[in-house]
Amino acid sequence: MSPKLSTSDSATIDSHCQHISPKGDRCHMLVDQNHRPANGAKRPTLCAYHADRLRASVPPVDPEVLAADLLGEIDDFSTAGSVNLFLGNLVKQLARKRIARRDAVALAYISQLLLNSLPALVREVEAENEAEQEAESVRIARRLRERSRELASLRDPQSSGSSAAAPRDGERACQTP
Ligand SMILES: [Zn+2]
Repeated sequence: MSPKLSTSDSATIDSHCQHISPKGDRCHMLVDQNHRPANGAKRPTLCAYHADRLRASVPPVDPEVLAADLLGEIDDFSTAGSVNLFLGNLVKQLARKRIARRDAVALAYISQLLLNSLPALVREVEAENEAEQEAESVRIARRLRERSRELASLRDPQSSGSSAAAPRDGERACQTP
């Protein structure tokens, strides 16, 4: 007599209810085929009576409440920290049997996909930042050149042709406005 028949993993292909009483007696009723099993079991494993009792013992959780508990303070999943937080919440809800195992497995899988996509996301952000910095340094260099040309022409209005050394002075002048 196996004492662990109440778990869905040990469900055998068997037409009798899998419920075991605290004394170890197996229920003799036939499995209720209309009972939709909870917690990821593939086929009904309980008689109508025990299926009802199980339903009563696992209070149905409002999906909105469950979502709020799972998401907590998480705004988006763009960091490993937020995905990790979500997985932690998922484990808590699963441990309290507030979420079906099947749903938990699906959410864990999606979390894995999110984690896998993070390095690409980081590269994308880095590339954007780099492009921005490059554009900014081009703008600064152009402004410096314009400024130094202005300064050079102010200092020496006649010799606008001999501008070879002028930009260096101009740059220095720009740094101390
Ligand atoms: Zn039963």
